[in-house]
Amino acid sequence: MTATTPNTPTYFQQQQPTMSPAINPPSDSPSQSSPTPTTAPIVRKHTFPTPLLRLELRDLAHEGSSIFLTNIHGNEDLSSQVQNVLNLLYSSPKETPVSHRPGTRSVTFIIRAFDGVAYTTGLDLDSDHKEINISAEYIKNCARGGDKRHELLGVICHELVHCFQWNAEGTCPGGLIEGIADWVRLRAGLGAAHWKQEASGEWDGGYQKTGYFLEWLERRFGDGTVRRLNGCLRKGEYDGEKVFGECCEGEKVEELWKAYRKGLEKGKKGGDGEDGPANPIPTHPAKKE
Ligand SMILES: [Zn+2]
Repeated sequence: MTATTPNTPTYFQQQQPTMSPAINPPSDSPSQSSPTPTTAPIVRKHTFPTPLLRLELRDLAHEGSSIFLTNIHGNEDLSSQVQNVLNLLYSSPKETPVSHRPGTRSVTFIIRAFDGVAYTTGLDLDSDHKEINISAEYIKNCARGGDKRHELLGVICHELVHCFQWNAEGTCPGGLIEGIADWVRLRAGLGAAHWKQEASGEWDGGYQKTGYFLEWLERRFGDGTVRRLNGCLRKGEYDGEKVFGECCEGEKVEELWKAYRKGLEKGKKGGDGEDGPANPIPTHPAKKE
C-alpha cells in the first residue's frame, strides 16, 4: 500500500426502508424523459481532476438497469458527484498536494442483481481502481412513489465517498467511515427522505446518525471540520482522542456526543436546544417555488 492509496475494505450501504406508494403519492417524482435535477451545486467551488468513470450494466433486461438509465445521466451525474465529494473532503486542488488525496484512478459502477443496496471495493491487484456495485433489485424497489433520482444520486454520492476518503490505513472505525459518507451525502443535499436526527447509543453508530453528529460538529467548530477529520485519517493507526482533539479544539468525542444528545433532547421538548442543532437540517435541497 502506498501513501496515496487508501486501503478500501468493502463498505456496505445501509438498507433503507422502502416507501409505500399509497402513503406518498409521487407529487414530484421524475418524469420518464427529464428527471428533476436535485444535486445542490453550492458545494462545488473547485474542479478536481476526475478519474476514469465507467458504467457496467450486467443485465440490460433487468428493470433496475432501465430505471438507472432513465434517472441518471451517465457521465454528467457521476462526475458531478465526484466533484461534490472531493469539494467536501478536500480544500482546493492547489491547496491539497496530490499525495494528500487518495490516488483513485478509476471508478467502475456496476449495476447487477444482488441482495442489499450498494457497496464499494478496491481491486485486489490495484486498490486505486474502485468498483461501486449497486443492486439492480434495490434500484427497482427503492423510493417507490418518491424521488428515485434523488435516492440514486444519494447512494452514488455515499459510495463515491468511499473511493476518496481516508481510513487511517484501514484502522478507522466503520461507524466513522460510514458517518463521513452520509455527512457528504447530507451536505450535497442528497439525504434520504426517511433520515432523522437521533442520538441513541454511541456516536459512531454510523450512517446518518453519525452523519448528523458530524454536521453538528461542522457547525460548532466551523466549516472544514469534517474535512480536517478526514485529513487526520490519512496516515497511521486510528487514535480517536488525537483525531477529535486536533479537529475539535481539544474536546473529547464522547463529551461532544453527550452535548449533542442533550441539545437534541432539549429541542424535542421545545427548549432552545442551545447545544443542539439550532435548525433542523433538511435532507432535500430547498426546491425553487
Ligand atoms: Zn458506506
